[in-house]
Amino acid sequence: MKLRRSTVIALSALLAATVAPVALPSSALADPAAATAAAEPNQVTGLTVTQADGYATLAWTPVPGATDYQIERTPVDAAGVPTDVARIVGVWRPNRQVNNESPTFADAGFNPGDRFQWRVRARVGTAEQPYSAPVAGTTRAPWGDPAVPGQNLRTQWETTRAAQYTSDVEEYAYTKAIDDLSDRVRVVEIGRTVLGRPINMFVIGYPAPPATPAAVAATSPVAVNCNVHGNEPGDREACLIMARQLAFGTDARTIDLLKKTTVLIVPTINGDGRAANTRGNSTGQDLNRDYSLIRQPETAAYVKMVRDYRPVAGYDGHEYGNAQAGDLPMLPPRHQNVSQGIFDESLDMIEGHMYEEGAKDGWWACPYGCQNGSGVGLSEETILRNTLGLKNVVNSLLELRSSGGQTRPDETNTANNRRRKTFSALWTFNQFLDYHHAQLGDIKKARAEAIEFQAGNTGRLVFRGSRVIPLHPAPHPGEAGPREDLPTPDMILENAPCAYKLTEEQYRGARTDGPGGVGATVAERIAAHGWKVVKVADGYIVPLAQPERGLIPLLLDAQGAEELVAGERVYPTVTGRHNGPLTISGFACFSGATVNGPVTVRPGATLVATGTTFSGPINAANAAGVFFGDSTLRGPLQISGTNGPVSIIGTQVSGPVNVANNAGGGAPYLVGNTINGPVNCSGNSPAPINLEVRNTVSGPKSGQCAAL
Ligand SMILES: [Zn+2]
Repeated sequence: MKLRRSTVIALSALLAATVAPVALPSSALADPAAATAAAEPNQVTGLTVTQADGYATLAWTPVPGATDYQIERTPVDAAGVPTDVARIVGVWRPNRQVNNESPTFADAGFNPGDRFQWRVRARVGTAEQPYSAPVAGTTRAPWGDPAVPGQNLRTQWETTRAAQYTSDVEEYAYTKAIDDLSDRVRVVEIGRTVLGRPINMFVIGYPAPPATPAAVAATSPVAVNCNVHGNEPGDREACLIMARQLAFGTDARTIDLLKKTTVLIVPTINGDGRAANTRGNSTGQDLNRDYSLIRQPETAAYVKMVRDYRPVAGYDGHEYGNAQAGDLPMLPPRHQNVSQGIFDESLDMIEGHMYEEGAKDGWWACPYGCQNGSGVGLSEETILRNTLGLKNVVNSLLELRSSGGQTRPDETNTANNRRRKTFSALWTFNQFLDYHHAQLGDIKKARAEAIEFQAGNTGRLVFRGSRVIPLHPAPHPGEAGPREDLPTPDMILENAPCAYKLTEEQYRGARTDGPGGVGATVAERIAAHGWKVVKVADGYIVPLAQPERGLIPLLLDAQGAEELVAGERVYPTVTGRHNGPLTISGFACFSGATVNGPVTVRPGATLVATGTTFSGPINAANAAGVFFGDSTLRGPLQISGTNGPVSIIGTQVSGPVNVANNAGGGAPYLVGNTINGPVNCSGNSPAPINLEVRNTVSGPKSGQCAAL
């Protein structure tokens, strides 16, 4: 559902004005259940309990004037006799969900399959009102029919009734069993940890996952990163259960989801940290402060996976211990270099979809950092949430409540506390899949616009600094939102360069910032991010006219808060108007220029153009690199024999386009262009790609470009 802030405000206002007692119709007394439910003043009525995977949703009729509600759970046997003490397991407050007039609470701290009785009572101020009539129910057993192969698999965490988390060895066995038994699953090792543990990824599709990363990319995949901090294991257990549901579920929802997209699940990126129960990896590095710098093999593996599989949406699972700060904090990418559309769509995923669905199912998703949540959720590009946003991926952080809070008290039962957090993650990740399924058109639109915006942008660069997360009337408590985190003046560069130039030593020189004092070279890390680089006579040029323009300067500019290397800023060489033929040798950067006349790019030369209009043919033969972003080309475009990168993004071309025999710069980009004329591609190695952003071509498309 799309976020409708005005509607939420109106409902909140309406609620405040309509808290008047409602008399029950006398006919209700004929119904025995309703008769018991209406016995006392201020007694909660209409309690229902609906079972789901790992949680039960309680709903009831609001009591006029109630301040909040307490939810009580009692274990009972088949005859309804209590087998243990009753506990208050939740407190529901009206400002914690949208749909304030329809209280719901997801109770999640119990062993799935056991039987319980629930009651709810209102409090007026601190005065407790009478409990509702009890409702008993048997909770849903762990997912999967014990008699069906595959469905009957269980994690170590499930078989030990949450007494143990699933070990590395048990994870590998469970993962292999799913891989062996399900045609929908391929398990891929995307890398190894510092200590050599495999980093596996489930690739799940229906009836089978696409065969190659590029084929997966064509399905607009989603990616869930389950365990970056080794001492935050709750999300990982949820991911392992969800992988089983997706691999063996026969319900229509699961089949529909997997027909439409491919689900990528990385259960344990930080296997060494998980085995040692430490936040960082075996070197002590916090991996969620390393996704831009990729000093560690674990983060490098994930970034290469994003480069190759090109997920359009993501979630990153964590746990937190703040007793306040909401029950299920989420947060979009906030860095100010993230495109507005990616920020907006990510925020809509949370405040539109998760808030709305959370209110139906009983979960309270508050923005991370809300309600005295301290200085968390900021703009570091080293955090996956921001890195992915800067890679044009709609995404969110998820934090699970690892300790008790005001509205979900500590049950003083370790297993139950673990279940509470793990099943809140299972709910969130499944909702994430449903959001992707429902909103894929909007997600793809935001991504396409972001790629075109970044490749054509010449505006200011922000090295550190966040967008503000505005207060939402509900479920935001209203005391405080996430910290503002605006950029300081030294973190802003108004006059952005066209490119960065690196020396041979900077590009290929030895690095000491990896495990054991050995780091990957800058060249290897740039390749892992997937950026295009031009080899020139005296070094290497990284143009900003690329899809990850928001991230490149954070690593290559000396002003970056955590830069990788201090590259030389290369400023535009051609602006304003130029009349007559142009021959380019060396490096030329056109920015906001107008060129009337033919352009020839000589062998070994480089052309970079953003926001520039060319009237006349452009011919680049045996160039070192050719980049167009957000430009207008009135005339034929011929690019052949380039010994380096070719990139044409968000550009209008009137006339035939021919891209032939280019090699050495990765796949040429033909992304989101509008071309009035025929397009032919031939002999390029590798073949051109469109990053799943189609070109609009009025003439025939032929050769390697036929499907772009
Ligand atoms: Zn974490």
